[in-house]
Amino acid sequence: MRLIRFLTVAAALFMFPLSNAGASEPIRIDTVRTSLIIPRPFKEPLKSMIPHDGEPIDTLDTANDFIKVLLYADNTWQYFKTPGFQQISGVFDDHWNNSSTNPYGITQEELPDSWSLWLVDSLDQYHCPFQGEVYYRGKYGIRRGRQHQGVDLPLKVGDPIYATFTGKVRVSKYMGGYGNLVIIRHENGLETFYGHLSRRDVQEGDWVNAGDVIGLGGSTGRSTGPHLHYETRYNGFSFDPQWLIDFKTGTLRHRLFVLKKKYFSPYSSYEQDFEDEFKNEEEDKKEDAEKAAMRYHTVRSGDTLSKIARNNGTTVNALCRLNNISPNTTLKIGRKLRVR
Ligand SMILES: [Zn+2]
Repeated sequence: MRLIRFLTVAAALFMFPLSNAGASEPIRIDTVRTSLIIPRPFKEPLKSMIPHDGEPIDTLDTANDFIKVLLYADNTWQYFKTPGFQQISGVFDDHWNNSSTNPYGITQEELPDSWSLWLVDSLDQYHCPFQGEVYYRGKYGIRRGRQHQGVDLPLKVGDPIYATFTGKVRVSKYMGGYGNLVIIRHENGLETFYGHLSRRDVQEGDWVNAGDVIGLGGSTGRSTGPHLHYETRYNGFSFDPQWLIDFKTGTLRHRLFVLKKKYFSPYSSYEQDFEDEFKNEEEDKKEDAEKAAMRYHTVRSGDTLSKIARNNGTTVNALCRLNNISPNTTLKIGRKLRVR
């Protein structure tokens, strides 16, 4: 629908080109190029942070080959990442396999106490995986003596399930108690799990946008009724997804999320640690200020971690911590590393 509207507007603009203020050259709209990279429209928009309902009419290049500016007919614009953007990020190479729910093999002792994770920004959007109320017996934490690593959201078989953020499908298969399971890894390292699906619509290795339908809700695997089992994990460890999402309203709670290691405890949950929530918001503000002080380096030919560390007055260890990489990670040219 949106695509058809777009094509109509694009065709109209093609016949009656906008004139550039003060210049005689009309703006030429490259419809072929534009149609190649417009974000795929949502089949059924739910709670979403995709800000534009307008019609994309053209794209502009930026200094980064993988980032374009998308212009809309209503004179607004937004940044848009092309799929190549994700391919230069090492997040999708390290600890990557389809055989394990936790491919990291890291112990919690090795991990820092907290991380600041950017969930959405001008380049990354959000879409609620499934809007509904968390089943009262399907909360995160200890349940009947065993750990429940996510939340359960009752649904009707066949309800569409959406990718929460942009990312790459690491697992799409039938896996024991999870039934039909899809695991997506996102660029900030976060992983989201979608279990008990009746149908999977994505394959391992697929790139997905926030809001893409990745499958349909169901009751496969160890399940007593149709529901979505939804998990959020980082470095292989689960934490209560309600830290991120208010499932009842479908909204994302934070742009910048301060994930604390203690949330990995099965005894920690969003509702129990509610007071932390306020601290989290305070830290959001603090982190916003810190964000302004962050510095990045784009990897060039001949760069090594020690060279980058030396040039930026920091250490290899600090670089590894900031970027969640190991000292022997292969640095791809064009990768953006945080140096401060
Ligand atoms: Zn569950």
